[in-house]
Amino acid sequence: PAKEKININNLLDETTGLLENEARYVNILIKKQYAENVPVITSDLSQIQQVVLNLLNNAIDAIGSDGTITVGSRYLEDTDQVELWVADTGKGIPEAEQSKIFEPFFTTKAVGKGTGLGLSISYSIIEKLGGKMRVQSKVGEGTMFTILLPKN
Ligand code: ADP
Ligand code: MG
Repeated sequence: PAKEKININNLLDETTGLLENEARYVNILIKKQYAENVPVITSDLSQIQQVVLNLLNNAIDAIGSDGTITVGSRYLEDTDQVELWVADTGKGIPEAEQSKIFEPFFTTKAVGKGTGLGLSISYSIIEKLGGKMRVQSKVGEGTMFTILLPKN
């Protein structure tokens, strides 16, 4: 994978920017919670953008209309990792499904609406970049995807 210097907060700004109009149209507010001490990381910019875009599209689908998506960042000094997250106030994921969502072709979307590939591809991208991806969710409350990336 290509390696370049990446400012995660800029990446989140740019990627949410791509969906700003779509989100506004269905009354979804995009909030940002960036840490200012997040260091520049060396990783693959376009692959991380692709993953974040996947998460944002899933969040919009899970909300439908009227809700909030929060993106944020944090620096974990102890392990020299950067954490980013995408949280939504959407329908949530039942506990029994949470272990399946990263499997290829798992989708709860209507035929033609989802391939079930987004999260499995995202998961392997993050693994190849030396990172970790996990999900926390509660039905009726929402979902948060967290991505950990090494600084180098
Ligand atoms: P697709 O979007 O094509 O269905 P994904 O791999 O992106 O495939 O997601 C798989 C499934 O995981 C979705 O169909 C949905 O059931 C669930 N999912 C993913 N993200 C969210 C989310 N933010 N909120 C609720 N469910 C989600
Ligand atoms: Mg998807």
